[in-house]
Amino acid sequence: MSESVADHACSVREQPFGFEWCGVEVLRCAEFRLTHVLQVKHGKRNVNIYISPTGRSIRVYLDGKELAEKREEIDLGTTS
Ligand SMILES: [Zn+2]
Repeated sequence: MSESVADHACSVREQPFGFEWCGVEVLRCAEFRLTHVLQVKHGKRNVNIYISPTGRSIRVYLDGKELAEKREEIDLGTTS
C-alpha cells in the first residue's frame, strides 16, 4: 500500500523518551559521563548520535557503523 504525498497526513505521537513521527522514532537514549546519545530509527535502520558535553565531538553511527567526516578519513588514511 502506498500513499501519495498529497494524501499524507503526518502523525506524531509523544513517547516517554521522544516521539514517533510517521514511523520515524526519535529517542533520547542515554547519558554517559555527560555525553548525550540520540537515536533516530525506522524499522531496522537506526542512527545513533553521540554528543560530547561541549558539542566539540559529535559522532554518528548508521546501523552500528560510524560515519566518519571526510577530513578525518583523509587525515587518518586508514580507510579500506
Ligand atoms: Zn508524515
